[in-house]
Amino acid sequence: MIQRIKGTMDILPTETPLFRYIEGVMREEAEKYGYGEIRTPTFENTELFVRGVGDTTDVVQKEMYTFADRDENRSISLRPEGTASVVRAIIENGKCSDPMPLKYYYIISCFRHEKPQAGRSREFFQFGTEMFGSESPAADATAIALASSVLKRLGLTNVKLHLNSIGCKNCRPDYRSALVDHFGCQKDKLCDTCKSRLDKNPLRLLDCKNPDCAKIASTAPRTVDHLCEDCKAKFEMLCRALDAMKIDYVVDSSIVRGLDYYTGAVFEFIAEGIGAQSTVCGGGKYDGLVESLGGPKLSGIGFGMGITRLILAMKELGIADVQIPTPDLYIAALGERATVEALSITERLRREGRYVECDIVGRSLKAQMKYANKIGAKYTLIIGDSEIDAGVAQLKNMSDGTQTEVELSSFTL
Ligand code: ATP
Ligand code: MG
Repeated sequence: MIQRIKGTMDILPTETPLFRYIEGVMREEAEKYGYGEIRTPTFENTELFVRGVGDTTDVVQKEMYTFADRDENRSISLRPEGTASVVRAIIENGKCSDPMPLKYYYIISCFRHEKPQAGRSREFFQFGTEMFGSESPAADATAIALASSVLKRLGLTNVKLHLNSIGCKNCRPDYRSALVDHFGCQKDKLCDTCKSRLDKNPLRLLDCKNPDCAKIASTAPRTVDHLCEDCKAKFEMLCRALDAMKIDYVVDSSIVRGLDYYTGAVFEFIAEGIGAQSTVCGGGKYDGLVESLGGPKLSGIGFGMGITRLILAMKELGIADVQIPTPDLYIAALGERATVEALSITERLRREGRYVECDIVGRSLKAQMKYANKIGAKYTLIIGDSEIDAGVAQLKNMSDGTQTEVELSSFTL
């Protein structure tokens, strides 16, 4: 028996309605905020993610599904996230000279070779958005408002917005050297990965999950204390805008994000009561990414929202029940002639937009009625030779047991 790959999941018809409901809310909200849907390939040249996500990140160093293409001498990777592909796509499709801002959203699966656990899988589903072409904190506020409004509409009252600014390339050198000093004097206590990242990218050390490193990180200098005037002013305006938009947040200096492209405002929406994988949404501003992937200088702001983590948070609140559609009518048929008649009526009513089932298994009448009950049919109709000869049959309302005579050739629901 061949089993599915560890860290992936089968989503069965009993669960897809919940996914579709959540995805529907995401689409509606994104489109209300003027975002258009973009679809990019599931795999890309590995180089895109190495340059886009960053070569010192966990995602690139430890988690990417990378393989050699069959016939060409190149390395390709399954996408571990959505932003790099969208940036490549806007450059490649000449969108960078369109009127700004550009606003895109996507609902995709991403692939990361992580340790599977609750809220962490190797193929996971993500709603993401990207906005390009505005340096104003008004753009950041708009992106955050969209994420917040999706979470509100889903009823997630157990989610809190954590906000930080990690500064731009002007504040970075000062902050970087403060970090190198802080971690450098305790270097022997760091894990090997952190040791090797200390000189290349000390910001990554703030994100390490190793308990010893996390302890040292907890007393590290805070980005907000090392912001340049411009970043400070922008962060203050973002906070004022969120206040005015009545979006609650806490300023949390521990939010630094695991991918290299972020600059300026970063944020996470964190759910209570769903265990260790509690970040349902993470995002922020990325000002250098478009340029570093070969495009013009263009500011970006985006986020990714993990759909399975949202479901965990909804289940925690007991709001994850979505109704599974039940048939309007089940037609029980006795014998071949009746089965053909049942198929004809079923097809006619389906064309009228109804959800109708009839027996196509050849069960006994008793078994057919049991099945009709099981699938929750609202009405049933039993037809045999005598009903066909008379052209009429009894339509039974399953909720109150009442029966009405209907004409087989013309009745509607
Ligand atoms: P984490 O710190 O939890 O590893 P991350 O910073 O790596 O998250 P992002 O790259 O920001 O995650 O992805 C955006 C969102 O996608 C996350 O906030 C989370 O909800 C979801 N996500 C990320 N990785 C996984 C995964 N392996 N399984 C399920 N959902 C995930
Ligand atoms: Mg991660």
